[in-house]
Amino acid sequence: MATERHQAGLEIFEYLTTNAHQIQEQVLEEILNRNARTEYLRGFLNGQCDKQLFKKNVPIITYQDVEPYINRIANGEPSDILLAEPLTGFYRSTGTSGGQPKLIPSIDEEDKLVLRDTLIESVIRKHFGDLDKAGKRMELMFAKPEIETPSGLMARTATTVLFKRSSFINILPKLYTSPIETIFCLDTNQSMYCQLLAGLIQRDEVVRIGSIFASAVLRAIKCLEDRWKELCSNIKTGHVSDWITDSGCRNALSLILKPNPDLADSIENICGCESWEGIIKKLWPKAKYIGAITTGFMSQYTAALEFYSGGLPLVSSFYVCSEAMCGINLEPLKRHADVSYTIVPNMAYFEFLPVKKDCPTIFPDQVGVSHQESKEMKSNNEVIEPVDLVNVEPGQCYELIVTTSAGLYRYKIGDILMATGFHNNAPQFQFVERQNVILSIDAEKTSEADLLRAVTKAKALLDPLGFLLTGYSSYADTSSTPGYYVLFWELKRKESNDTKELDPKIMVECCSRMEESLNYTYKVYRKENTIAPLEIRVVKEGTFDALMDYYVSQGVSMSQYKAPSCIKSKEVMKILDSGVIGKFSNPEIRF
Ligand code: AMP
Repeated sequence: MATERHQAGLEIFEYLTTNAHQIQEQVLEEILNRNARTEYLRGFLNGQCDKQLFKKNVPIITYQDVEPYINRIANGEPSDILLAEPLTGFYRSTGTSGGQPKLIPSIDEEDKLVLRDTLIESVIRKHFGDLDKAGKRMELMFAKPEIETPSGLMARTATTVLFKRSSFINILPKLYTSPIETIFCLDTNQSMYCQLLAGLIQRDEVVRIGSIFASAVLRAIKCLEDRWKELCSNIKTGHVSDWITDSGCRNALSLILKPNPDLADSIENICGCESWEGIIKKLWPKAKYIGAITTGFMSQYTAALEFYSGGLPLVSSFYVCSEAMCGINLEPLKRHADVSYTIVPNMAYFEFLPVKKDCPTIFPDQVGVSHQESKEMKSNNEVIEPVDLVNVEPGQCYELIVTTSAGLYRYKIGDILMATGFHNNAPQFQFVERQNVILSIDAEKTSEADLLRAVTKAKALLDPLGFLLTGYSSYADTSSTPGYYVLFWELKRKESNDTKELDPKIMVECCSRMEESLNYTYKVYRKENTIAPLEIRVVKEGTFDALMDYYVSQGVSMSQYKAPSCIKSKEVMKILDSGVIGKFSNPEIRF
Protein backbone atom coordinates (compact mmCIF):
# COMPACT_ATOMS: atom_id res chain seq x y z
CA MET A 1 0.00 0.00 0.00
CA ALA A 2 2.73 2.43 1.10
CA THR A 3 4.92 1.31 -1.82
CA GLU A 4 2.09 2.02 -4.21
CA ARG A 5 1.59 5.46 -2.68
CA HIS A 6 5.27 6.27 -3.11
CA GLN A 7 5.37 4.93 -6.65
CA ALA A 8 2.33 7.10 -7.37
CA GLY A 9 4.17 10.04 -5.73
CA LEU A 10 7.05 9.73 -8.16
CA GLU A 11 4.65 9.43 -11.06
CA ILE A 12 2.78 12.56 -9.96
CA PHE A 13 6.09 14.37 -9.74
CA GLU A 14 6.99 13.30 -13.30
CA TYR A 15 3.62 14.56 -14.47
CA LEU A 16 3.96 17.87 -12.64
CA THR A 17 7.48 18.54 -13.89
CA THR A 18 6.75 17.42 -17.47
CA ASN A 19 3.80 19.81 -17.59
CA ALA A 20 5.45 22.48 -15.48
CA HIS A 21 4.36 25.39 -17.64
CA GLN A 22 0.70 24.35 -17.91
CA ILE A 23 0.55 23.57 -14.20
CA GLN A 24 1.96 26.99 -13.35
CA GLU A 25 -0.58 28.69 -15.60
CA GLN A 26 -3.37 26.75 -13.86
CA VAL A 27 -2.04 27.67 -10.43
CA LEU A 28 -2.01 31.37 -11.29
CA GLU A 29 -5.40 31.18 -12.97
CA GLU A 30 -6.97 29.57 -9.92
CA ILE A 31 -5.43 32.12 -7.57
CA LEU A 32 -6.67 35.01 -9.72
CA ASN A 33 -10.13 33.54 -10.22
CA ARG A 34 -10.49 33.28 -6.49
CA ASN A 35 -8.80 36.46 -5.36
CA ALA A 36 -8.87 39.08 -8.13
CA ARG A 37 -11.67 40.91 -6.34
CA THR A 38 -9.89 41.20 -3.00
CA GLU A 39 -9.02 44.70 -1.81
CA TYR A 40 -5.33 44.13 -2.48
CA LEU A 41 -5.60 42.80 -6.05
CA ARG A 42 -8.55 45.04 -7.02
CA GLY A 43 -6.23 47.98 -6.70
CA PHE A 44 -4.07 46.60 -9.51
CA LEU A 45 -6.45 44.46 -11.58
CA ASN A 46 -9.81 46.20 -11.33
CA GLY A 47 -11.35 42.84 -10.57
CA GLN A 48 -10.06 41.23 -13.79
CA CYS A 49 -8.49 37.77 -13.72
CA ASP A 50 -6.11 38.39 -16.58
CA LYS A 51 -2.70 36.77 -16.12
CA GLN A 52 -0.92 39.27 -18.39
CA LEU A 53 -2.45 42.17 -16.50
CA PHE A 54 -1.31 40.51 -13.27
CA LYS A 55 2.27 40.50 -14.49
CA LYS A 56 2.04 44.02 -15.83
CA ASN A 57 0.33 45.69 -12.89
CA VAL A 58 0.90 43.79 -9.71
CA PRO A 59 4.11 45.02 -8.10
CA ILE A 60 6.88 42.78 -6.86
CA ILE A 61 6.92 43.24 -3.11
CA THR A 62 8.71 42.35 0.10
CA TYR A 63 7.21 41.51 3.48
CA GLN A 64 7.24 45.17 4.51
CA ASP A 65 4.90 46.04 1.62
CA VAL A 66 2.26 43.47 2.52
CA GLU A 67 2.72 43.72 6.29
CA PRO A 68 0.06 46.45 6.78
CA TYR A 69 -2.56 44.21 5.11
CA ILE A 70 -1.50 41.20 7.18
CA ASN A 71 -1.58 43.27 10.36
CA ARG A 72 -5.09 44.48 9.58
CA ILE A 73 -6.25 40.87 9.32
CA ALA A 74 -4.36 39.92 12.48
CA ASN A 75 -6.13 42.82 14.20
CA GLY A 76 -9.57 41.59 13.25
CA GLU A 77 -10.47 42.81 9.77
CA PRO A 78 -11.82 40.12 7.42
CA SER A 79 -9.17 38.21 5.52
CA ASP A 80 -10.75 39.06 2.16
CA ILE A 81 -8.51 42.10 2.12
CA LEU A 82 -5.96 39.66 0.74
CA LEU A 83 -7.75 36.47 -0.21
CA ALA A 84 -11.30 35.26 -0.70
CA GLU A 85 -10.92 32.17 1.45
CA PRO A 86 -10.90 32.57 5.23
CA LEU A 87 -7.45 32.23 6.77
CA THR A 88 -6.88 29.35 9.15
CA GLY A 89 -4.13 31.24 10.91
CA PHE A 90 -0.63 32.57 10.42
CA TYR A 91 2.79 31.02 10.22
CA ARG A 92 5.40 32.72 12.35
CA SER A 93 8.56 32.86 10.32
CA THR A 94 11.95 34.42 10.75
CA GLY A 95 13.28 32.72 7.64
CA THR A 96 15.08 35.43 5.71
CA SER A 97 14.38 38.35 7.96
CA GLY A 98 17.45 38.12 10.17
CA GLY A 99 15.48 37.42 13.32
CA GLN A 100 12.56 39.81 12.77
CA PRO A 101 9.35 37.82 13.16
CA LYS A 102 7.00 37.76 10.19
CA LEU A 103 3.37 36.64 10.06
CA ILE A 104 2.64 34.64 6.93
CA PRO A 105 -1.05 34.01 6.12
CA SER A 106 -1.99 30.34 5.99
CA ILE A 107 -4.99 28.40 4.74
CA ASP A 108 -5.92 24.75 4.91
CA GLU A 109 -3.64 23.09 2.35
CA GLU A 110 -3.58 19.55 3.68
CA ASP A 111 -3.48 18.13 0.14
CA LYS A 112 -0.27 20.03 -0.58
CA LEU A 113 1.30 18.93 2.69
CA VAL A 114 0.44 15.31 1.96
CA LEU A 115 1.86 15.58 -1.54
CA ARG A 116 5.00 17.25 -0.23
CA ASP A 117 5.59 14.50 2.36
CA THR A 118 4.88 11.78 -0.18
CA LEU A 119 7.31 13.25 -2.71
CA ILE A 120 10.09 13.61 -0.17
CA GLU A 121 9.53 10.10 1.19
CA SER A 122 9.34 8.63 -2.32
CA VAL A 123 12.79 9.96 -3.16
CA ILE A 124 14.23 8.72 0.14
CA ARG A 125 12.65 5.30 -0.33
CA LYS A 126 14.14 5.02 -3.80
CA HIS A 127 17.63 5.48 -2.36
CA PHE A 128 17.43 4.00 1.13
CA GLY A 129 14.61 1.49 0.91
CA ASP A 130 11.53 1.31 3.12
CA LEU A 131 12.64 3.00 6.34
CA ASP A 132 9.22 2.51 7.93
CA LYS A 133 9.84 -1.22 7.93
CA ALA A 134 13.51 -0.92 8.86
CA GLY A 135 13.09 1.02 12.12
CA LYS A 136 12.54 4.46 13.63
CA ARG A 137 13.70 8.00 13.01
CA MET A 138 15.44 9.99 15.70
CA GLU A 139 14.18 13.33 14.50
CA LEU A 140 14.79 16.30 16.77
CA MET A 141 11.62 18.36 16.72
CA PHE A 142 10.69 21.45 18.70
CA ALA A 143 7.24 22.98 18.84
CA LYS A 144 6.66 26.56 19.95
CA PRO A 145 3.66 28.01 21.75
CA GLU A 146 0.92 29.44 19.62
CA ILE A 147 0.17 33.11 19.89
CA GLU A 148 -3.36 34.40 19.55
CA THR A 149 -3.64 37.49 17.39
CA PRO A 150 -6.32 40.08 18.30
CA SER A 151 -8.47 38.64 15.48
CA GLY A 152 -8.60 35.31 17.32
CA LEU A 153 -6.51 33.68 14.57
CA MET A 154 -3.55 31.75 15.89
CA ALA A 155 0.05 32.34 14.83
CA ARG A 156 2.22 29.21 14.89
CA THR A 157 5.56 28.18 13.47
CA ALA A 158 5.19 26.06 10.35
CA THR A 159 6.83 23.13 12.11
CA THR A 160 4.41 23.35 15.04
CA VAL A 161 1.55 23.06 12.54
CA LEU A 162 3.14 19.89 11.16
CA PHE A 163 3.61 18.39 14.62
CA LYS A 164 -0.06 19.04 15.44
CA ARG A 165 -1.46 17.19 12.41
CA SER A 166 -3.35 14.10 13.51
CA SER A 167 -1.74 12.11 10.69
CA PHE A 168 1.66 12.91 12.25
CA ILE A 169 0.61 12.25 15.84
CA ASN A 170 -0.85 8.87 14.83
CA ILE A 171 2.32 7.57 13.19
CA LEU A 172 4.73 9.13 15.70
CA PRO A 173 5.05 6.25 18.21
CA LYS A 174 5.62 3.74 15.45
CA LEU A 175 8.02 5.68 13.25
CA TYR A 176 9.83 8.13 15.55
CA THR A 177 11.76 7.80 18.79
CA SER A 178 10.59 11.12 20.31
CA PRO A 179 7.36 10.97 22.33
CA ILE A 180 4.95 13.77 21.42
CA GLU A 181 5.25 15.30 24.91
CA THR A 182 8.97 15.89 24.40
CA ILE A 183 8.32 17.71 21.12
CA PHE A 184 5.77 19.99 22.76
CA CYS A 185 7.81 20.61 25.92
CA LEU A 186 8.39 24.34 25.87
CA ASP A 187 11.73 24.22 27.67
CA THR A 188 14.08 23.52 24.77
CA ASN A 189 16.83 22.09 27.01
CA GLN A 190 14.49 19.59 28.63
CA SER A 191 13.00 18.76 25.25
CA MET A 192 16.42 18.15 23.69
CA TYR A 193 17.64 16.04 26.64
CA CYS A 194 14.52 13.89 26.65
CA GLN A 195 14.56 13.41 22.88
CA LEU A 196 18.19 12.30 23.11
CA LEU A 197 17.38 9.97 25.97
CA ALA A 198 14.51 8.43 23.99
CA GLY A 199 16.80 8.11 20.95
CA LEU A 200 19.49 6.37 23.01
CA ILE A 201 17.06 3.96 24.66
CA GLN A 202 15.87 2.93 21.19
CA ARG A 203 19.31 3.15 19.59
CA ASP A 204 19.17 -0.25 17.96
CA GLU A 205 16.02 0.68 16.08
CA VAL A 206 17.17 4.04 14.75
CA VAL A 207 17.56 4.16 10.97
CA ARG A 208 17.70 7.89 10.46
CA ILE A 209 18.90 10.84 12.51
CA GLY A 210 17.92 14.35 11.73
CA SER A 211 16.24 17.66 12.21
CA ILE A 212 15.16 20.26 9.68
CA PHE A 213 18.42 22.18 9.75
CA ALA A 214 21.95 20.93 10.42
CA SER A 215 22.47 23.35 13.30
CA ALA A 216 19.90 21.53 15.48
CA VAL A 217 21.64 18.18 14.94
CA LEU A 218 24.92 19.71 16.05
CA ARG A 219 23.19 21.19 19.05
CA ALA A 220 22.05 17.67 19.96
CA ILE A 221 25.64 16.40 19.72
CA LYS A 222 26.71 19.22 22.01
CA CYS A 223 24.02 18.25 24.53
CA LEU A 224 25.22 14.65 24.31
CA GLU A 225 28.84 15.73 24.89
CA ASP A 226 27.85 17.72 27.96
CA ARG A 227 25.49 15.15 29.44
CA TRP A 228 26.32 11.64 28.24
CA LYS A 229 27.28 10.46 31.73
CA GLU A 230 23.99 11.71 33.12
CA LEU A 231 22.05 10.15 30.22
CA CYS A 232 23.80 6.84 30.86
CA SER A 233 23.06 7.04 34.56
CA ASN A 234 19.36 7.63 33.74
CA ILE A 235 19.40 4.54 31.52
CA LYS A 236 21.26 2.48 34.12
CA THR A 237 18.86 3.31 36.94
CA GLY A 238 15.68 3.74 34.93
CA HIS A 239 15.13 7.19 36.53
CA VAL A 240 15.09 10.41 34.62
CA SER A 241 17.13 13.30 36.10
CA ASP A 242 15.38 15.54 38.63
CA TRP A 243 15.93 18.70 36.58
CA ILE A 244 13.49 17.29 34.01
CA THR A 245 10.48 18.84 35.64
CA ASP A 246 8.12 18.84 32.66
CA SER A 247 5.44 16.35 33.68
CA GLY A 248 4.62 15.41 30.06
CA CYS A 249 8.25 14.50 29.41
CA ARG A 250 8.57 12.57 32.70
CA ASN A 251 5.40 10.59 32.07
CA ALA A 252 6.29 9.80 28.47
CA LEU A 253 9.80 8.70 29.38
CA SER A 254 8.60 6.59 32.29
CA LEU A 255 6.88 4.38 29.71
CA ILE A 256 10.10 3.59 27.84
CA LEU A 257 12.83 4.10 30.46
CA LYS A 258 13.55 0.89 32.35
CA PRO A 259 16.79 0.10 34.20
CA ASN A 260 19.17 -1.18 31.54
CA PRO A 261 22.78 -1.33 32.80
CA ASP A 262 24.02 -3.17 29.69
CA LEU A 263 22.74 -0.48 27.37
CA ALA A 264 24.15 2.22 29.63
CA ASP A 265 27.55 0.51 29.66
CA SER A 266 27.75 0.20 25.92
CA ILE A 267 26.82 3.88 25.43
CA GLU A 268 29.33 4.83 28.12
CA ASN A 269 32.07 2.90 26.35
CA ILE A 270 31.38 4.67 23.10
CA CYS A 271 31.05 8.16 24.56
CA GLY A 272 34.09 7.70 26.83
CA CYS A 273 36.43 7.51 23.82
CA GLU A 274 38.86 10.38 23.41
CA SER A 275 37.77 11.10 19.89
CA TRP A 276 34.17 11.60 18.99
CA GLU A 277 34.87 11.11 15.33
CA GLY A 278 32.07 8.97 13.89
CA ILE A 279 30.08 9.03 17.17
CA ILE A 280 26.70 9.14 15.41
CA LYS A 281 27.31 5.92 13.51
CA LYS A 282 28.73 4.27 16.64
CA LEU A 283 25.76 5.18 18.79
CA TRP A 284 23.14 4.43 16.18
CA PRO A 285 24.68 1.61 14.17
CA LYS A 286 21.63 0.96 11.99
CA ALA A 287 21.34 4.59 10.85
CA LYS A 288 21.44 4.95 7.09
CA TYR A 289 21.76 8.70 6.81
CA ILE A 290 21.52 12.04 8.56
CA GLY A 291 18.60 14.08 7.30
CA ALA A 292 19.12 17.83 7.72
CA ILE A 293 19.48 20.82 5.44
CA THR A 294 23.17 21.46 4.84
CA THR A 295 22.94 23.67 1.77
CA GLY A 296 23.49 27.43 1.48
CA PHE A 297 24.42 29.09 4.77
CA MET A 298 23.83 25.73 6.51
CA SER A 299 26.90 24.34 4.73
CA GLN A 300 29.03 25.95 7.46
CA TYR A 301 28.02 22.98 9.65
CA THR A 302 28.88 20.20 7.23
CA ALA A 303 32.53 19.78 8.29
CA ALA A 304 31.50 19.29 11.92
CA LEU A 305 28.60 17.01 11.00
CA GLU A 306 30.83 14.94 8.73
CA PHE A 307 33.30 14.57 11.56
CA TYR A 308 30.63 13.13 13.86
CA SER A 309 28.71 11.20 11.21
CA GLY A 310 31.05 8.24 10.68
CA GLY A 311 30.55 8.38 6.93
CA LEU A 312 26.75 8.52 6.97
CA PRO A 313 25.46 10.55 4.04
CA LEU A 314 24.11 14.01 4.88
CA VAL A 315 20.82 14.41 3.07
CA SER A 316 19.16 17.77 2.37
CA SER A 317 15.77 16.68 1.12
CA PHE A 318 13.94 19.91 0.48
CA TYR A 319 13.93 23.64 0.10
CA VAL A 320 10.95 24.96 1.96
CA CYS A 321 9.80 28.26 3.44
CA SER A 322 6.87 29.22 5.62
CA GLU A 323 5.52 31.00 2.55
CA ALA A 324 5.60 27.96 0.25
CA MET A 325 7.06 24.56 -0.38
CA CYS A 326 9.53 25.27 -3.16
CA GLY A 327 11.69 22.35 -4.17
CA ILE A 328 12.84 18.81 -3.52
CA ASN A 329 16.22 17.17 -3.92
CA LEU A 330 15.95 14.23 -6.30
CA GLU A 331 19.51 13.06 -5.64
CA PRO A 332 19.83 12.77 -1.88
CA LEU A 333 23.25 11.16 -2.04
CA LYS A 334 24.90 14.18 -3.65
CA ARG A 335 27.23 16.20 -1.45
CA HIS A 336 25.80 19.45 -0.12
CA ALA A 337 27.85 21.54 -2.53
CA ASP A 338 26.25 19.85 -5.52
CA VAL A 339 22.67 19.64 -4.28
CA SER A 340 20.02 21.15 -6.54
CA TYR A 341 16.35 21.43 -5.69
CA THR A 342 13.71 20.81 -8.35
CA ILE A 343 10.83 23.25 -8.16
CA VAL A 344 7.48 21.55 -7.52
CA PRO A 345 5.23 23.37 -9.99
CA ASN A 346 1.88 23.03 -8.24
CA MET A 347 2.97 24.40 -4.85
CA ALA A 348 2.79 28.10 -5.78
CA TYR A 349 3.20 30.34 -8.79
CA PHE A 350 6.93 30.92 -9.10
CA GLU A 351 8.74 33.75 -10.84
CA PHE A 352 12.45 34.39 -10.95
CA LEU A 353 13.99 37.82 -10.91
CA PRO A 354 17.45 37.74 -12.52
CA VAL A 355 20.11 39.21 -10.24
CA LYS A 356 23.44 40.52 -11.34
CA LYS A 357 25.90 38.39 -9.50
CA ASP A 358 28.78 36.02 -9.96
CA CYS A 359 27.05 32.83 -9.03
CA PRO A 360 29.30 30.33 -7.32
CA THR A 361 29.12 26.98 -9.04
CA ILE A 362 29.63 25.31 -5.70
CA PHE A 363 29.86 26.11 -2.08
CA PRO A 364 33.45 25.24 -1.40
CA ASP A 365 34.67 22.92 1.26
CA GLN A 366 38.16 23.39 0.10
CA VAL A 367 40.35 26.13 -1.29
CA GLY A 368 40.42 26.72 -5.02
CA VAL A 369 36.83 27.26 -5.88
CA SER A 370 35.64 27.86 -9.34
CA HIS A 371 33.29 30.68 -10.14
CA GLN A 372 31.09 30.96 -13.08
CA GLU A 373 30.43 34.40 -14.49
CA SER A 374 26.74 35.04 -14.57
CA LYS A 375 25.21 35.59 -17.96
CA GLU A 376 25.55 39.11 -19.30
CA MET A 377 22.77 41.17 -17.76
CA LYS A 378 20.84 43.94 -19.39
CA SER A 379 22.41 47.38 -19.11
CA ASN A 380 21.86 49.21 -15.85
CA ASN A 381 18.97 51.46 -16.77
CA GLU A 382 16.89 48.75 -18.40
CA VAL A 383 14.20 47.30 -16.16
CA ILE A 384 14.86 43.69 -15.33
CA GLU A 385 11.71 41.60 -15.52
CA PRO A 386 11.17 38.33 -13.70
CA VAL A 387 10.98 35.22 -15.86
CA ASP A 388 8.65 32.24 -15.62
CA LEU A 389 9.76 28.87 -14.40
CA VAL A 390 10.31 27.44 -17.88
CA ASN A 391 12.42 30.39 -18.98
CA VAL A 392 15.19 30.32 -16.39
CA GLU A 393 18.69 29.91 -17.76
CA PRO A 394 21.20 27.57 -16.17
CA GLY A 395 24.15 29.45 -14.70
CA GLN A 396 22.05 32.52 -13.91
CA CYS A 397 21.18 33.65 -10.39
CA TYR A 398 17.64 34.67 -9.51
CA GLU A 399 15.70 36.03 -6.63
CA LEU A 400 12.69 33.83 -5.91
CA ILE A 401 9.23 35.39 -6.14
CA VAL A 402 6.09 33.51 -5.14
CA THR A 403 2.38 34.01 -5.56
CA THR A 404 0.54 31.72 -3.18
CA SER A 405 -3.01 30.54 -2.61
CA ALA A 406 -2.75 32.07 0.87
CA GLY A 407 -2.66 35.69 -0.28
CA LEU A 408 0.93 36.61 -1.17
CA TYR A 409 1.24 38.10 -4.63
CA ARG A 410 4.61 38.49 -6.36
CA TYR A 411 6.30 38.29 -3.01
CA LYS A 412 10.07 38.09 -2.69
CA ILE A 413 10.98 35.32 -0.29
CA GLY A 414 14.42 36.88 0.09
CA ASP A 415 16.49 33.97 -1.24
CA ILE A 416 18.93 33.96 -4.14
CA LEU A 417 19.13 30.76 -6.15
CA MET A 418 21.28 29.68 -9.05
CA ALA A 419 19.67 27.73 -11.87
CA THR A 420 21.55 24.52 -12.56
CA GLY A 421 19.34 22.72 -15.08
CA PHE A 422 15.94 21.12 -15.50
CA HIS A 423 14.14 17.99 -14.46
CA ASN A 424 11.72 17.53 -17.34
CA ASN A 425 10.46 21.12 -17.67
CA ALA A 426 10.86 22.17 -14.06
CA PRO A 427 13.98 24.15 -13.21
CA GLN A 428 16.51 23.05 -10.63
CA PHE A 429 18.40 25.42 -8.38
CA GLN A 430 21.23 25.54 -5.93
CA PHE A 431 20.58 27.68 -2.89
CA VAL A 432 23.05 30.59 -2.96
CA GLU A 433 22.23 32.99 -0.14
CA ARG A 434 19.71 35.13 1.65
CA GLN A 435 19.36 38.46 -0.08
CA ASN A 436 19.24 40.70 2.97
CA VAL A 437 22.26 39.28 4.75
CA ILE A 438 24.87 41.80 3.87
CA LEU A 439 27.96 43.21 5.49
CA SER A 440 28.51 46.71 4.27
CA ILE A 441 30.86 49.61 4.77
CA ASP A 442 30.50 52.56 2.43
CA ALA A 443 29.68 51.16 -1.01
CA GLU A 444 31.33 47.82 -0.25
CA LYS A 445 28.88 44.98 0.06
CA THR A 446 29.79 41.49 1.13
CA SER A 447 26.96 39.03 0.72
CA GLU A 448 26.22 35.91 2.77
CA ALA A 449 27.71 33.64 0.08
CA ASP A 450 30.85 35.87 -0.27
CA LEU A 451 31.33 35.62 3.45
CA LEU A 452 30.78 31.88 3.57
CA ARG A 453 33.28 31.38 0.76
CA ALA A 454 35.93 33.49 2.52
CA VAL A 455 35.35 31.79 5.88
CA THR A 456 35.54 28.36 4.23
CA LYS A 457 38.86 29.18 2.59
CA ALA A 458 40.33 30.62 5.77
CA LYS A 459 39.21 27.88 8.12
CA ALA A 460 40.85 25.31 5.83
CA LEU A 461 44.10 26.43 7.53
CA LEU A 462 42.79 25.14 10.87
CA ASP A 463 41.39 21.79 9.72
CA PRO A 464 44.79 20.01 9.63
CA LEU A 465 45.56 21.39 13.09
CA GLY A 466 42.61 19.54 14.58
CA PHE A 467 40.18 22.45 14.96
CA LEU A 468 36.60 22.51 13.76
CA LEU A 469 34.78 25.77 13.10
CA THR A 470 31.40 25.16 14.76
CA GLY A 471 29.85 28.59 14.24
CA TYR A 472 30.53 32.01 12.79
CA SER A 473 28.89 35.36 12.46
CA SER A 474 29.92 38.87 11.51
CA TYR A 475 29.22 42.57 11.72
CA ALA A 476 30.50 45.79 10.25
CA ASP A 477 32.13 47.87 13.00
CA THR A 478 31.82 51.50 12.01
CA SER A 479 32.30 52.94 15.47
CA SER A 480 35.79 54.05 14.39
CA THR A 481 37.03 55.39 11.07
CA PRO A 482 37.81 53.60 8.89
CA GLY A 483 35.37 50.86 9.79
CA TYR A 484 36.15 47.17 9.50
CA TYR A 485 34.53 43.79 9.39
CA VAL A 486 34.48 41.67 12.53
CA LEU A 487 34.13 37.89 12.34
CA PHE A 488 33.17 35.84 15.38
CA TRP A 489 34.48 32.29 15.18
CA GLU A 490 33.73 29.46 17.57
CA LEU A 491 36.32 26.71 17.36
CA LYS A 492 36.45 23.28 18.88
CA ARG A 493 39.23 20.72 19.14
CA LYS A 494 38.47 17.47 17.38
CA GLU A 495 40.13 15.40 20.12
CA SER A 496 39.05 16.04 23.69
CA ASN A 497 42.52 15.31 25.11
CA ASP A 498 44.21 17.67 22.66
CA THR A 499 45.70 20.54 24.65
CA LYS A 500 47.25 22.33 21.69
CA GLU A 501 46.73 26.09 21.92
CA LEU A 502 45.46 28.06 19.00
CA ASP A 503 48.49 29.49 17.19
CA PRO A 504 48.08 33.29 16.88
CA LYS A 505 50.22 33.26 13.72
CA ILE A 506 47.77 30.88 12.04
CA MET A 507 44.85 33.03 13.14
CA VAL A 508 46.50 36.11 11.63
CA GLU A 509 46.99 34.05 8.48
CA CYS A 510 43.27 33.22 8.55
CA CYS A 511 42.52 36.97 8.59
CA SER A 512 44.63 37.46 5.48
CA ARG A 513 43.13 34.43 3.79
CA MET A 514 39.67 35.84 4.42
CA GLU A 515 40.59 39.26 3.06
CA GLU A 516 42.18 37.72 -0.03
CA SER A 517 38.98 35.77 -0.62
CA LEU A 518 36.60 38.72 -0.38
CA ASN A 519 35.42 40.55 -3.46
CA TYR A 520 37.14 43.10 -5.68
CA THR A 521 35.59 46.19 -4.07
CA TYR A 522 36.63 45.02 -0.62
CA LYS A 523 40.22 44.74 -1.77
CA VAL A 524 40.18 48.18 -3.43
CA TYR A 525 38.77 49.72 -0.25
CA ARG A 526 41.34 47.96 1.89
CA LYS A 527 44.15 49.24 -0.29
CA GLU A 528 42.76 52.77 -0.08
CA ASN A 529 42.31 52.33 3.68
CA THR A 530 38.59 53.06 3.38
CA ILE A 531 38.20 49.78 5.25
CA ALA A 532 40.54 48.81 8.10
CA PRO A 533 41.88 45.25 8.54
CA LEU A 534 39.34 42.55 9.15
CA GLU A 535 39.33 41.13 12.66
CA ILE A 536 38.60 37.58 13.75
CA ARG A 537 37.33 37.29 17.32
CA VAL A 538 37.51 33.77 18.62
CA VAL A 539 34.73 33.04 21.11
CA LYS A 540 34.67 30.36 23.76
CA GLU A 541 32.82 27.10 23.18
CA GLY A 542 29.12 27.38 23.83
CA THR A 543 28.83 31.03 22.73
CA PHE A 544 26.86 30.13 19.61
CA ASP A 545 24.60 27.91 21.70
CA ALA A 546 23.94 30.94 23.91
CA LEU A 547 23.05 32.84 20.74
CA MET A 548 20.62 30.10 19.72
CA ASP A 549 19.11 30.13 23.22
CA TYR A 550 18.62 33.87 22.96
CA TYR A 551 16.73 33.56 19.66
CA VAL A 552 14.68 30.64 20.98
CA SER A 553 13.76 32.75 24.03
CA GLN A 554 12.55 35.43 21.59
CA GLY A 555 10.07 32.99 20.01
CA VAL A 556 12.15 31.38 17.25
CA SER A 557 11.66 27.62 17.00
CA MET A 558 14.82 25.56 17.37
CA SER A 559 13.49 23.47 14.49
CA GLN A 560 13.62 26.51 12.22
CA TYR A 561 16.57 28.34 13.77
CA LYS A 562 19.16 29.82 11.44
CA ALA A 563 22.18 31.44 13.08
CA PRO A 564 22.56 34.98 11.77
CA SER A 565 25.57 35.23 9.41
CA CYS A 566 25.57 38.95 9.91
CA ILE A 567 24.45 40.78 13.04
CA LYS A 568 22.73 44.10 13.42
CA SER A 569 21.25 43.76 16.91
CA LYS A 570 23.14 45.18 19.90
CA GLU A 571 21.70 42.47 22.15
CA VAL A 572 23.12 39.73 19.95
CA MET A 573 26.44 41.52 19.66
CA LYS A 574 26.67 41.60 23.44
CA ILE A 575 26.21 37.82 23.65
CA LEU A 576 28.98 37.19 21.14
CA ASP A 577 31.32 39.83 22.56
CA SER A 578 30.97 38.40 26.05
CA GLY A 579 32.39 35.11 24.74
CA VAL A 580 35.50 36.58 23.07
CA ILE A 581 38.76 34.89 24.11
CA GLY A 582 41.09 36.18 21.39
CA LYS A 583 41.23 38.88 18.73
CA PHE A 584 43.32 38.66 15.59
CA SER A 585 43.94 40.86 12.56
CA ASN A 586 46.66 41.47 10.03
CA PRO A 587 47.46 45.05 8.99
CA GLU A 588 49.58 43.75 6.10
CA ILE A 589 47.86 43.82 2.71
CA ARG A 590 48.68 40.78 0.60
CA PHE A 591 46.81 41.53 -2.63
P1 AMP B 1 11.21 29.65 7.54
O1 AMP B 1 10.45 30.78 7.01
O2 AMP B 1 11.56 29.74 8.97
O3 AMP B 1 10.52 28.41 7.14
O4 AMP B 1 12.61 29.65 6.78
C1 AMP B 1 12.67 29.56 5.39
C2 AMP B 1 14.05 29.94 4.93
O5 AMP B 1 14.99 28.92 5.31
C3 AMP B 1 14.19 30.01 3.43
O6 AMP B 1 13.68 31.22 2.91
C4 AMP B 1 15.68 29.86 3.26
O7 AMP B 1 16.35 31.07 3.51
C5 AMP B 1 16.02 28.84 4.35
N1 AMP B 1 16.00 27.49 3.73
C6 AMP B 1 14.96 26.65 3.61
N2 AMP B 1 15.32 25.53 2.97
C7 AMP B 1 16.63 25.66 2.68
C8 AMP B 1 17.58 24.85 2.00
N3 AMP B 1 17.28 23.64 1.54
N4 AMP B 1 18.86 25.30 1.89
C9 AMP B 1 19.19 26.51 2.40
N5 AMP B 1 18.34 27.32 3.03
C10 AMP B 1 17.07 26.91 3.16
